Amino acid sequence: MPEPLAAGKLLTLLHMRGAMTRAQATESLGLARSAIGVAVDELVGLGLIRTAPAGPAAGRGRPSPLIEPDPRGPVAVAVELRPGYLRVATAGLGLTALRIATHPVPDLEPAAVARQVAELVDGIGPCAGVCVMVPGALREADGHVRSALHLGWNEEPFGARLGERITAPLRFGDDGTLAGLAEYHRGAGRGTTTMLLLCCEHRGIGGSLVNAGVVFGKNSFGVQAGHITVDSAGPRCPCGARGCLELYADGAAMLREAGADPGEAQEAAVARVLAEDAAVVRHAVEFLGAGLAALTNILAPERIVLSGLLGRLAAARPGLLRSVLDERSIVARSDRTDLTAGELAHPVLVGALDRAFAPLLANPGLTATPDR
Ligand SMILES: [Zn+2]
Repeated sequence: MPEPLAAGKLLTLLHMRGAMTRAQATESLGLARSAIGVAVDELVGLGLIRTAPAGPAAGRGRPSPLIEPDPRGPVAVAVELRPGYLRVATAGLGLTALRIATHPVPDLEPAAVARQVAELVDGIGPCAGVCVMVPGALREADGHVRSALHLGWNEEPFGARLGERITAPLRFGDDGTLAGLAEYHRGAGRGTTTMLLLCCEHRGIGGSLVNAGVVFGKNSFGVQAGHITVDSAGPRCPCGARGCLELYADGAAMLREAGADPGEAQEAAVARVLAEDAAVVRHAVEFLGAGLAALTNILAPERIVLSGLLGRLAAARPGLLRSVLDERSIVARSDRTDLTAGELAHPVLVGALDRAFAPLLANPGLTATPDR
């Protein structure tokens, strides 16, 4: 009996897991061998996957042919927007041939950013989809940005601006959500059911809770980890509250605490502080622990993943974050909540590439680029 969704399921499996034998794919998807056969033929015909003879079968029987994403297949585009710069990544199915380029963003005015993003995407040529990460709270359905504090955007119809210029299927996400999905499916979250991720590039701390592959929360408000109050008498945050976590534990905060310029793209300066300034590291780790304890008591994740700068911060004082967390959170202490660093070098871009490929994965026949 034909299985109409088999092609999409098979393409998704190969995109997420890479090359495997047809027998492995059949077992993994729990579909009939005949259905997989039809799906393989369909996807090969669309130029999305290719088959190669495998080596001799282990044990009995005929060798099962190897199937994998076709490197000549379509690419997807991910854009990671930050204050002052942006990254553009392109990759094929299976995230093969991943390429990343960084560009300065001279003008943060939304119309100018939309023009710049559209020109960069246009320069790449035909693609299966585009996903743009905006650091803040946004409506995923149409890319309407509710609030992006570090870009100075409020109720900004950024998705509509881009939609006027980009014809490929367009998706959106915030940094916490995209990084969370990437680590959950491909990195440090694999094997857990409930994962809390906190991430920091330099300015601001994002987060997400992923449960059984589904992101918790309404419309990318996600887990606003950076705005957990860790000191109610602390300084005023641009969000309107006082003493928010990101005022103590993001890269800009650590540089400020160390008496250095907290400006953008200060990776080397932050690395120096992490290596040399024990007092600043302790200060940041203690506040990060307080924030994590509050989140853990509410959300009770099975695993906490600290992505980017936060993973490096925790590693700079091994054991300290664990002890602060255990001291302050009855859940973490009793449950021995896993606490680990992210595994992916570019989780936001990886999550965005997966999301950019989503329309093609859901319906390989509809969106594949014809007659290459
Ligand atoms: Zn705040």
